[in-house]
Amino acid sequence: RRWWFVLLSVLLFGGFLFGVVKVRVRTIEARNRRLEDLVHQRTEELQQQKQQLEETLKELHAAKTELEKKNEELKQVSQAKSEFLANMSHEIRTPLNGVIGMTELLLDTQLTPEQREYAEIIRSSGNTLLEIINDILDFSKIEAGRLDLDWTSFSLHDCVGDTLKTLSLRAHEKGLELTYFIDPDLPDRLLGDPGRLRQVLINLVGNAIKFTERGEVVVRVEPAEGKNARAGTTLCYANMQFVKEGDPSTFANGATRMALLHFSVKDTGIGIPAEKRELIFEAFKQADGSTTRKFGGTGLGLAIAKQLVEMMGGQIWVESHPGIGSIFHFTAQFGVGMETRAEAEAAASVDLHGKSILVVDDNETNRKILVEQLSRWGMRVTDASSGQRALELIRQRLDENRPFDLVILDAMMPDMDGFSLAEKIRELDSVCRSTIMMLSSVGLRGDAARCRELGIAVYLTKPVKQTELLTAIREVLTRKAADKKRDEKETAERERLITRHSLREKMGKYRILVAEDNEVNLKLAKRLLEKRGYQVVVARTGKEAVEIVQNHPVDLVLMDVQMPEMSGLDATKIIREMEKTTGEHLPIVAMTAYALRGDRERCIEAGMDDYISKPIKAGELYAKIEAYLPEKKVLVDSDFPDKKLVDLESALDRVGGDRELLRDVLILFLQDLPLTLARLEDAYHGKKLEEIRRIAHTLKGAAGNIGADRLRDKAALLEKAAEKGNIQDVNRFFEELVAMAQRTEQLLKEFLEVGIDEGADC
Ligand code: ADP
Repeated sequence: RRWWFVLLSVLLFGGFLFGVVKVRVRTIEARNRRLEDLVHQRTEELQQQKQQLEETLKELHAAKTELEKKNEELKQVSQAKSEFLANMSHEIRTPLNGVIGMTELLLDTQLTPEQREYAEIIRSSGNTLLEIINDILDFSKIEAGRLDLDWTSFSLHDCVGDTLKTLSLRAHEKGLELTYFIDPDLPDRLLGDPGRLRQVLINLVGNAIKFTERGEVVVRVEPAEGKNARAGTTLCYANMQFVKEGDPSTFANGATRMALLHFSVKDTGIGIPAEKRELIFEAFKQADGSTTRKFGGTGLGLAIAKQLVEMMGGQIWVESHPGIGSIFHFTAQFGVGMETRAEAEAAASVDLHGKSILVVDDNETNRKILVEQLSRWGMRVTDASSGQRALELIRQRLDENRPFDLVILDAMMPDMDGFSLAEKIRELDSVCRSTIMMLSSVGLRGDAARCRELGIAVYLTKPVKQTELLTAIREVLTRKAADKKRDEKETAERERLITRHSLREKMGKYRILVAEDNEVNLKLAKRLLEKRGYQVVVARTGKEAVEIVQNHPVDLVLMDVQMPEMSGLDATKIIREMEKTTGEHLPIVAMTAYALRGDRERCIEAGMDDYISKPIKAGELYAKIEAYLPEKKVLVDSDFPDKKLVDLESALDRVGGDRELLRDVLILFLQDLPLTLARLEDAYHGKKLEEIRRIAHTLKGAAGNIGADRLRDKAALLEKAAEKGNIQDVNRFFEELVAMAQRTEQLLKEFLEVGIDEGADC
């Protein structure tokens, strides 16, 4: 029974254990199933995410391709824009070259003072037009951040005065008074970019004239008191350096400090509505945006002006009352330059102190400015607003026996104009005790002649620059000074004629080829060169130019870039290729109407030596050409016998005058030369520098003995280059030496054929 009991217990315990294990296995199975489900679910989720990612990737890829396409398109647009600008600039510059150039020629002929003034206005207007074209190019440069400001010394008075002179014709045509006033406390000598300042002024004053029908335009320049420079500006002057780092009181360029100037341009025109006053400073925006608008323009001017002013550390703003007028203001920073001693002395020598002057002008602003200027020079000034009042004052002074030293009249006045007034003054004052000076806004035909008849000493066109006025007054008040000036002028003219004559003689030795397809420009360039005394040959295509260079002696080529059949660039490449066999180098100067960066490089790359941009100015042309001619002159000029290809006389000296011996030496040299050259060539191709040096040295001696000086010089250069191991020079001089040797050989053979005696004269 006990055994039974034990067995039963074991069985029960085993059953219990079995039950527990079974339950445990089931639990594990259930957990496994749950885990499997989870894994399954997760896998599905992951697969979905993968799919989504793939889709996003695809989209990104598509977007990237799209962006790349857009980028490419943008590049093409920008390229097209630059090309368009270059082409447009070219198209406009070409006819403008004719206008400005021909006017310069005209100015060089005998003209009456009146004709001269008109021609000068044509020239300066042409130059203004040129500036507009440059404006457009500028804008694209500023946009691309590629514009730097200059840092040079200039006179504020000259800059403002000259700028307004170029605009005066436009103002006077509309019957507007154009005046300016520069605060005398401002320094005149400034450091900065006069060209850019001029550009801003031209724009503002040009606009003022354009949008004003009647009244006046007044430009003022004053210290910008209380107005600070634009906060946080960086001045964009290139090369502006301080002597000591961080010490703004002394500049390397001679300036002592910076000054902020305030410019204003006031007009009595149509004004600008309040809501447009910000907008007009944006590019291509105009107050009147309608297509039917009355005034032309690009809407670029103010945008450029704003950028330039900000680059000069200032700001620009406008005050305006529609129907009454506008005042454009801008500030700009400049370095204050030191006046030179000569300038200070010239200013101190003004001896107009105490002179009595009567100013007659109906325009109040004009009168005020004149009175202020003249008083500052120490003169006693009386003013009159009408001819009637002026006559009363003059009569009174004559009666008191203290006549005015000078009467300054405005030509255009209501009731009694300047001419009638002058006539009446002469009736009162028949012995001319007062000198009369006339200021006129309009240069009318015949005015100058009328002035002479009426005994008017000087006739000036407004706006009159202060320096001009000062010089004129000094001239008329001191007869002696005027006489001296005339003498000086005559002497200068005589000297100019003499120099011109000798120049013509000298230049006559040169023959210049002008390659240009545009008839007007061709004529212009030809005329300019002939005036200087050069012999000129012309070509109308690149191909013709190459033919001429091949068959005729030419000292320099002036080459247009764009020509039919063959461009100037291609023609140059061909000429340079031809020269490889002769060792010569013909100076080629490009004439192009392109003005974009990179054009110059293209010309130089094609093998041209230099570049002159249209419109061509006489002075610039001569300077460029003459920089390349002197060396050429050495080659052709018989004044330099030592530079002949072969100097037989010195060779003859060396052999004690024995012609037979020289003949033998020459024959020997000619026999040796091909051998020497062949050895040289071997050494060259084998890159054996020492060998090259040695052969060059021997050749140098041999060439020197027979008077082949230029071959000797070339050999010396090659010898030195090989000695220094300068491979580039070795390459260059080797080629040049071979070419030179061929030419020398040719010439020596000719000598031997014609006989040494005749050859010596070659
Ligand atoms: P543009 O004169 O070539 O149109 P600007 O940028 O110089 O371009 O001028 C933009 C606009 O600002 C002009 O079209 C004109 O509407 C307005 N504006 C400029 N100056 C004056 C002014 N003195 N009087 C009236 N409106 C002006």
